[in-house]
Amino acid sequence: MPLFVQKYGGTSVGTVDKIQHVATKILQAKRRNEDIVVVVSAMSGETDRLLTLARQIQTHPNPRELDVLLSTGEQVTIALLCMALEEKGCPASSYTGGQARILTDAAHTKARIVDIDTTRIRRDLEQGKVVVVAGFQGVNEEGDITTLGRGGSDTTAVALAAALKADECQIYTDVDGVYTTDPRVEPKARRLNRITFEEMLEMASLGSKVLQIRAVEFAGKYNVPLRVLSTFDEGKGTLITYEDETMEQALISGIAFNRDEAKLTVEGVPDRPGIAAKILGPIADANIEVDMIVQNVAEDATTDFTFTVHRNDYAKALDVLNQVKSELSARKVTGDDKIVKVSLVGVGMRSHAGIASKMFRSLADEGINIRMISTSEIKISVVLDEKYLELAVRTLHEAFELDQPLTA
Ligand code: ASP
Ligand code: MG
Repeated sequence: MPLFVQKYGGTSVGTVDKIQHVATKILQAKRRNEDIVVVVSAMSGETDRLLTLARQIQTHPNPRELDVLLSTGEQVTIALLCMALEEKGCPASSYTGGQARILTDAAHTKARIVDIDTTRIRRDLEQGKVVVVAGFQGVNEEGDITTLGRGGSDTTAVALAAALKADECQIYTDVDGVYTTDPRVEPKARRLNRITFEEMLEMASLGSKVLQIRAVEFAGKYNVPLRVLSTFDEGKGTLITYEDETMEQALISGIAFNRDEAKLTVEGVPDRPGIAAKILGPIADANIEVDMIVQNVAEDATTDFTFTVHRNDYAKALDVLNQVKSELSARKVTGDDKIVKVSLVGVGMRSHAGIASKMFRSLADEGINIRMISTSEIKISVVLDEKYLELAVRTLHEAFELDQPLTA
C-alpha cells in the first residue's frame, strides 16, 4: 500500500467545519487504499494568541515554558481531528510530538529533529488506523517539550515522511501550489507543475511563504518528494522534486521578491586589507544578518562598501556604522530603507547564457534603475527602489514568458 504523509496547515483546520472537511479528505484517501499519516498545525491564529498571552506576563518568556504553552495549539487539533475521523467510522489515533517519539535537540523554540522512533506509528498503520501527529513539536533527551520554530509543522511532516520512507509528503494549504510569482502582484502568475528542491529553496529564502525553508532543505537532503496542494480545491498542486534530465525544463521557474530590504553604504574607506572585516564585524556582533555585499573598485585609494540588511535592522545597523565610522576613517555613512530585492530563479540558468543581460535590458526598457546586482548558479537578484517592485515583477514575468505553460 502506498504511504502518504499529509500535512494540514492552520487555515485548513481553523474551524470545526474545516476539521470535518479534512476528515472527509483523509477518508477519501483511505478508500483509495492509501496508508495515511497526518500532521496538523494549530488552528489558525492560535499560536499567535498563545504568544500574546505569554508576552503579557514576560517580555521574553522563558523558552522552556513557552514551548509547553505553544505545543498546546497542535494538541487541540490532533484530538479534534481524531474525533472527527472516528465519527465518520475511520479508526484513528492522535500523538503529540513526544508520544510520536520525535526526539529533538534541546534548543527550545527552535529545536532540530535528531531522531524519530516510528515503531508505534507503524503498528497503528498495520492495524489500518490513520495516525494523526501534532506538528511543530518534539521532546528532548530529558523528556521536555520542544518546538521547531514558526511554520515548523512542515518540517515535522517531511521528517516523518523521511523516517517512514513515505511515497510522498503532501502539504495541504490554502493555495493550490507554488506559483511563478505572487499572484497578488502579477495576476498572470501560473501554478508550476514541478519545481526542483534547489529552486524551491531559493524561492522560500527569497520570501515565498508557501513552505518553511527548513522543511525544503530536509526534503532535498533525504529526497522526500514534496507536493503542495489545496485543501479546498481539487488539483495536482506542485511537485517539488529532484532535477530530472528527461523533463522539459523551463529556463526560469519563478520570480521571487522581498520588500523588507534596506541598504547601507560606507563611503570613502581606505582600500586596504581588513576593511571588510572591520565594517561587518561590528554588524555581526550586533546580531544583524547581512545579505548582499558590494565593494567598489578603489579610486584615489579609497572605496565605497555597500551591503543590505533586513529593514527591521536598518536603524540599528546605521547606528553601529556611525559608531565605527571614525575608526574606519570613512568619509560618510549613508543608507536607504526604501529598496526591494527582485530575483529570477531557475536551474535552466546553469546551461544558458544571456539570462542576466535579458533581465537587465527588460528592466532598462521600463526605465527601472538597478542599484545592486548579485548572482548565484541558479539565481540573479537585483536591488531596486521600492516604487518599481510591481512594474519590475510584471516586466520580468512577461519577458521570460512565465505566463505561458511549457509545451511538453
Ligand atoms: N503552529 C505553528 C505556527 O503557527 C507551527 C505551524 O503552523 O507550522 O508557526
Ligand atoms: Mg504553516
